[in-house]
Amino acid sequence: MPALPEQVTVPHFVGQRQITTTTKTVPRPGAGQLLLQVKANALCGSERPQWANGTTVTPGHEAAGIVVAAGEGTTTPLGTPGVVFLMDFCGNCRNCRQNFTNQCLNKRADMGFNQDGGYGQYELIHENIFFPVGDLPLTEATMLLDIMGTGGHAINRARLVHSDIQTILIPGAGPIGLGVLAMAKLLLGDDVKVVISDVVPYRLKLAEAMDGLPVLSTEMSLADGLKYHGLQAPDVAIDCAGKAMVRDECMALLAHRGVMVSVAHGEGLTVKNLYGDFVFREMTLIGSEYFAYHELEDNLKLLNANRAYMDQIITHRLGVDEIQRAFELFFGGETGKVIIEQ
Ligand SMILES: [Zn+2]
Ligand SMILES: [Zn+2]
Repeated sequence: MPALPEQVTVPHFVGQRQITTTTKTVPRPGAGQLLLQVKANALCGSERPQWANGTTVTPGHEAAGIVVAAGEGTTTPLGTPGVVFLMDFCGNCRNCRQNFTNQCLNKRADMGFNQDGGYGQYELIHENIFFPVGDLPLTEATMLLDIMGTGGHAINRARLVHSDIQTILIPGAGPIGLGVLAMAKLLLGDDVKVVISDVVPYRLKLAEAMDGLPVLSTEMSLADGLKYHGLQAPDVAIDCAGKAMVRDECMALLAHRGVMVSVAHGEGLTVKNLYGDFVFREMTLIGSEYFAYHELEDNLKLLNANRAYMDQIITHRLGVDEIQRAFELFFGGETGKVIIEQ
């Protein structure tokens, strides 16, 4: 391993949608920690506040890199490539012990939000949130995080209460919506019908290439979109748009035994006509937040078996020196996943 530098230049999100650079000390790993040299980090819609308002933390929570230094008590060999799970979970609380690591009651950090993340050259993490990926290229390995992780978790949440999902409705064809679409196909099989809506035609083209049935929301309601594709009430709606109106529309459209999964944060949701709809039709409303660390293992197998299919989601790869342009492009709306590579 080459000697580590004392200091490095990293992106600095100063607010007002501007990213400059600053110098930071390269941390040395303490007990139980690893230092990664980051090779790729995907942009995410949840970085909008950091982009708009600025932060002293170096953002980036969809990182893939190589272990270049390891602290006392760790077992990961130097040179191991892998990805970083966003939530620095404790491993000991009631929820962690039951594998609900995304619901840790004693979380140490959210990487890239309150601790330096993956847009810097180096990222310091606890070993338990590192997941080795073998010889998978690291840019593609970022698909294991918000795309396959969050997407798959949403499908699995729905499967907890629905055993024969045939039709899924996804409002929102941004990266998370595309991830949910992809994981619906990979986990439930090609026969599942996935209707996906958005206001951006570019995104719907991507969704269509990934076997989604597109609905352009500026031209058609969700109900008309379903009809257009020869479908009726969906078994599951997975909201990736975050609009109260859209969620209410989904609730009204769902079939008997219908499941509404909320992945997007954003606005609220109203359970109307409690007896006539919600109780009578035995509907379920479920939240779905990120995913649990142990889900990475199955998703790595799925990714290795479906690389060409998943690669379609990555539409732009830019160097860290182009991070300003990368964010402008991404929040311009006409991209899939945008990756910063170093
Ligand atoms: Zn994210
Ligand atoms: Zn915990």
